[in-house]
Amino acid sequence: MAEFDVDLFVIGGGSGGVRAARIAANYGAKVMVAEEYRMGGTCVIRGCVPKKLFVIGSHVHQEIEDAAGFGWSIGQVSFDWATLVANKDKEIARLEAAYTSNVEKSGARIVKTRAVLEDAHTVRLATGEKVTAKYILIATGGAPNHGPAVPGIEHVISSNEAFHLKELPKRIVIQGGGYIALEFAGIFAGFGSDVTVVYRGDNVLRGFDEDVRKHVRTEMEKRGITIITGCTVAKVDKHGRDFTTHLSSGSSIASDQVMFAIGRHPNVANLGLETAGIAINPANGGIQVDGWSKTSVDNIYAVGDVTHRTNLTPVAIREGHAFADTVFGKRPVQVDHATIPTAVFSQPEVGTVGLTEEEARAQYSHVDIYKTDFRPIKATMSGRDTRVLMKLVVDGSSDRVLGCHIVGDAAAEITQAVAIAVKMKATKADFDATVALHPTASEELVTMRTPTARHVRQAAE
Ligand code: FAD
Ligand code: NDP
Repeated sequence: MAEFDVDLFVIGGGSGGVRAARIAANYGAKVMVAEEYRMGGTCVIRGCVPKKLFVIGSHVHQEIEDAAGFGWSIGQVSFDWATLVANKDKEIARLEAAYTSNVEKSGARIVKTRAVLEDAHTVRLATGEKVTAKYILIATGGAPNHGPAVPGIEHVISSNEAFHLKELPKRIVIQGGGYIALEFAGIFAGFGSDVTVVYRGDNVLRGFDEDVRKHVRTEMEKRGITIITGCTVAKVDKHGRDFTTHLSSGSSIASDQVMFAIGRHPNVANLGLETAGIAINPANGGIQVDGWSKTSVDNIYAVGDVTHRTNLTPVAIREGHAFADTVFGKRPVQVDHATIPTAVFSQPEVGTVGLTEEEARAQYSHVDIYKTDFRPIKATMSGRDTRVLMKLVVDGSSDRVLGCHIVGDAAAEITQAVAIAVKMKATKADFDATVALHPTASEELVTMRTPTARHVRQAAE
């Protein structure tokens, strides 16, 4: 009789768990995956995918506005929120089924239930059943922070609920200045809502390049989004179907919905981590892992948002894949967390890879900046008041391109391709040797010849 019921028990059927389960099963392992909600996890069910569908849908508004300058007369248009939500739900159900069948085709078995650790080799299902496993992978993801317990917090929605609202809010207040706040601000504004973003710091997207932060804020404001900085939501009152959001500054805003997008926390609670002896990383509250995604217990690994390293889908997928290669494929792989491209699907989009100017100046003695902001060709005929930002951060000593930052249409698509060059340690001379592709916005990346700024740090005395 086998020593364990399965070779691998995966807790969580999201991006990281699904990839690990499939690859381990392909290597011949006997695998079981527990999912308490819906297969596919955050990204597929209430994250990247439905968000991008909403972004695409809301951007149509701008296309319609821009069409007049090109001779189109579109006439009366209308938008139906219920149709959007129903069609999105249909697509998400299709993807959920595809994720389920792909896992099953690999030979792994799915159990649709919550699972918690009983000890280092035993998992307890909500049904009471116990399963023993040689290896356990924790891939339970994260969840929205519900935030400081301000009076009226029970009236506040998170991104989870934003995907299922019965009606499009005419007015919405969104607290937060990160990915989700800016993406949903663009979504709701595109569909016609009056949007106010409330952010506690001096400008949105803390951690991004300063020029990006300024540019994206200006562009969002041009599109009619109100951005209030330097304050927080102190209280939310509900009267009938209306809300009044009271700010720490003393002012208040009337709206039909209030949403908080103030970060996410790793799903580590009530998982039995203590019983199994799994350590939490005191720096970020996620499960502590080493470079192989191994926890403090030898046979238990953790990948994705539950480790709170880089909370992005492609990273969770890589970590899950690397775990399966290492443990079941006899092919040790560590994920390289350096130079990961990322995009904020705000309107306009932000695409970024590598170091910001501020980071580069802290790490390198010579930093050259190549920056341009310009009116995109489409705006010359649409008449839209908009500008695109492109910025390269270059090591002045080695000529290596350390970072690329873009704000404008297709920034994410452009950044994915530029990220290959940056990851390959391309130099500015390599960029310059590449012939421009005309007429595009991204040709600016290979035609900026003269630095707009040169920073030289004096050697310490
Ligand atoms: P998840 O995908 O969250 O999967 C965890 C799964 O575990 C869930 O299905 C959960 O139900 C299940 N689970 C939890 N506990 C248990 C238990 N005890 N037993 C059984 N099952 C359990 N990333 C990008 O790269 N690009 C984007 O554009 C992007 N957009 C996003 C938009 C939003 C609104 C949000 C919220 C996130 C977005 N992300 C995006 C982040 C991305 O969704 C996550 O980084 C990714 O889903 C993490 O994958 P994971 O496998 O770690 O966890
Ligand atoms: P972010 O960390 O991006 O942003 C959180 C925002 O909330 C920040 O502006 C933060 O301010 C603010 N904040 C935090 N705590 C408080 C508080 N107590 N009161 C008021 N404001 C607060 O988190 P999100 O929720 O937007 O998204 C979570 C993660 O999901 C992202 O970091 C990303 O990893 C992933 N994601 C990725 C996407 C993509 O790839 N396109 C899209 C959506 C999510 P401050 O900066 O001052 O700390």
